[in-house]
Amino acid sequence: MSRILATLEKRHALLAGGRAQRERLARVQLARTFEDALSSSGLLPLLATGVEILQINVGKRCNQTCRHCHVDAGPDRKEVMPRAVLEACLSFLERYRVPTLDITGGAPELHPDFREIVGRAADAGAHVIHRCNLTAILLPNYSDIPALLASRAVEIVASLPYFQARETDTQRGEGVFAESIEALHLLNSLGYGTGGDLRLNLVTNPVGTFLPGNQRELEAHWKHEMLRRYGVVFDNLYTITNMPISRFLDFLDERERTEEYLTRLANAYNPAAAAGVMCRNTLSVGYDGTLYDCDFNQMLDLPVESAVTRTIFDASMQQLAYRAIATGPHCFGCTAGAGSSCGGSVA
Ligand code: SF4
Ligand code: SF4
Repeated sequence: MSRILATLEKRHALLAGGRAQRERLARVQLARTFEDALSSSGLLPLLATGVEILQINVGKRCNQTCRHCHVDAGPDRKEVMPRAVLEACLSFLERYRVPTLDITGGAPELHPDFREIVGRAADAGAHVIHRCNLTAILLPNYSDIPALLASRAVEIVASLPYFQARETDTQRGEGVFAESIEALHLLNSLGYGTGGDLRLNLVTNPVGTFLPGNQRELEAHWKHEMLRRYGVVFDNLYTITNMPISRFLDFLDERERTEEYLTRLANAYNPAAAAGVMCRNTLSVGYDGTLYDCDFNQMLDLPVESAVTRTIFDASMQQLAYRAIATGPHCFGCTAGAGSSCGGSVA
C-alpha cells in the first residue's frame, strides 16, 4: 500500500472540480430535494444566525492523501493562502471580534505563516482551533508547533478514523496510525487532552459507506481503548459523516455506490440536525479570499449567495450575519441521523 496517492486534480479526474461534483450529485434521483426537506421542517430558506466562527482554509497542501478527503489535499497541491488574504481574514476577525478562528486546510502547519496566524489571532482574544492531521507536527521543521499551540491554548481537533492501525492506515496511508499515536503522546506530554485548558479532540469518520454510531457511546469506548492500548488521553470524540464530495464521491462512484449512499443520507434526514448545521454560525474563507457558507461548499465552488459580499476583502458583517445559506444534495451529509459538523454530531 502506497502512503501517498495522486490527488484527483493530479490525475485530471472527472470529479476534480467543484462544478463537476455538483453536476454529479444533481444526477442522483432522490425522493425529495434537500430544500424540500428543509421546507418540511420550516427551515427554508436556511438562514445563518450570526458569525461566531471564522473558518479559514489556508491551503490544500498536505503531507497525506487520505482516501475520503473532501479537500482533495495532498503534497502535489500548490494552493496557499496569500499574505493579502491572510491579513484581510485577521482584520475581519479583529474588527468584528469574532469569538473563534478555526484554521483548516490541507495541513495548516504547512502554511509558511501558520505560527503568525496563531499568535495574532490569540493576541486578538480569539479562541483558536487548529485542525491537525497529527503526522504533520512530526515533520522536520515543524517540531516547535506543538509547544506553540500549547503556549497559546489552541484547541486541537485531530483526525483519527479508528483506534486500530489497519482501519486508519487503509483510509489515511500506511504508517499513519503509528505516527498519530506518537503525536498524541507528544501532545499529552504537553498537557493536552487531560481535561484542562489544553483541549484535544479526536475526530472519527466511518471507514465505509455507513453513518457514524452514537457519539457519546463511541467516546466512552474510545477513551477506554486509547488509554488501555496506547496510554493516550483526549477530551472529546467527534463523529463525522463522510461527505459525498471530492475523493469520497470518487470512491463511491468507482464502486457504483453513489446513489445508494446519497439515498441513505437523505432517508436519515433529521430536522433537529438540520436546525443545528454548522454553516448557521460559521463563515468559511477559501485560500483565495472567496467567502463560503462552509468548507464543503468551498470545495464544490458554491460561494455565499450575497450579491454584494463575495470575498473577505469586501466582507460586511451586516450582510453576512443573517445570510441565506447555499444548499444542495450534499447537505444531507450534515443532517443525517445525529447530524455531522466540524464539532461532531449536532442532535
Ligand atoms: S483528510 Fe486531512 S490529512 Fe487527509 S489529505 Fe485531507 S487535509 Fe490531509
Ligand atoms: S454542507 Fe455546508 S451548507 Fe450544507 S448543511 Fe452542511 S454546513 Fe450547511
